[in-house]
Amino acid sequence: MDSLRTFIKKINTDARDAGIGGECLADIRYDEPMSAHTTFRVGGPADVWVRPLGGALPAYASLLLDAAGKEGIKVFILGGGANILVADRGIRGIVLDTGGWKGMDRGEGVAFRSGTPVDEALEAAAAAGLGALEFLAGMPGTIGGAVWMNARCYDTSVSDVLLAVEILDEGFNRTWIPFRAEDFAYKKSPFQGRDVLILAACFALNPEPEAAIRAKMEEHHRDREAKGHYRFPSAGSAFKNNRAFGKPTGRIIDELGLKGLSRGGAAVAPWHGNIIINTGNAAAADLRVLMEEIAARVRAALGIELENEILFIGDY
Ligand SMILES: Cc1cc2nc3c(=O)[nH]c(=O)nc-3n(C[C@H](O)[C@H](O)[C@H](O)COP(=O)(O)OP(=O)(O)OC[C@H]3O[C@@H](n4cnc5c(N)ncnc54)[C@H](O)[C@@H]3O)c2cc1C
Repeated sequence: MDSLRTFIKKINTDARDAGIGGECLADIRYDEPMSAHTTFRVGGPADVWVRPLGGALPAYASLLLDAAGKEGIKVFILGGGANILVADRGIRGIVLDTGGWKGMDRGEGVAFRSGTPVDEALEAAAAAGLGALEFLAGMPGTIGGAVWMNARCYDTSVSDVLLAVEILDEGFNRTWIPFRAEDFAYKKSPFQGRDVLILAACFALNPEPEAAIRAKMEEHHRDREAKGHYRFPSAGSAFKNNRAFGKPTGRIIDELGLKGLSRGGAAVAPWHGNIIINTGNAAAADLRVLMEEIAARVRAALGIELENEILFIGDY
């Protein structure tokens, strides 16, 4: 841990020497409980959690990722923590939180910074009379996480409206990558196979009356409320859907009578087979064991292999 403190101190000194950041360069915490940064509200301590502030993320991340790579220190990039299950033992190395890198930039197109919470991005787009992103309304997480996951809601994927993505590439250069349909698939983006930091995304937005945009956003919010998305801490769908199964994964789990099944503080939501909830005091181990149990029961009953949508992160 001492060596990590020394490492971070050096990055901060180098950043200041390079004129990166204002008075407050980054929020830095040691042994930071990840339960405070995930929608499941579980997860043990990260050795170091760093959130660069203001406009510091691109340059700060470039210094940090370069130096960490050379020293063999692992870095996990955190968006809104809405699709991850962090281990009870936490995360070794550094968690780089994008949450300080927010906002909408209007130039030739409209780009959202990766740490912008999805609902904040939609709010800014609505206020500017720009539609197309309403399908994401009410989905927890950030723009960066939505692009990385190629999030999908109401039969629309992020890749259906994406024009270009700015990344910090493996050589620590800021690069805009034009969208290519062949790089994306259901819940798959090309960034899942690369060590890159998504910095911004540009979407195909259409001028529309603000009231019409807001009406669609509100409809989705209401629908999610009605479906119990926010009743208990969760990370959304536990398993991916698969057309080959012939029905949604939630229905498969439901038809096997697994709704309400529980392990410790983890349970299959009594109202939705594909949502695993933290009923109050779940450990990550409870949630993981329950997911493994569901997958095993589905395999045994139907010979179907479920694919996890939730990512297991950290020291399992
Ligand atoms: C109540 C609820 C409802 C949900 N409904 C849906 C839904 O309808 N559809 C759907 O698709 N998902 C849904 N989800 C899951 C989740 O909201 C999405 O997967 C979301 O896109 C995750 O974004 P995030 O910023 O939280 O990513 P995180 O969970 O923080 O990270 C996910 C992955 O993305 C990577 N990542 C994040 N940001 C960056 C970045 N800037 N650069 C590089 N890598 C990055 C992380 O390293 C990690 O591997 C739901 C979750 C909840 C809790």
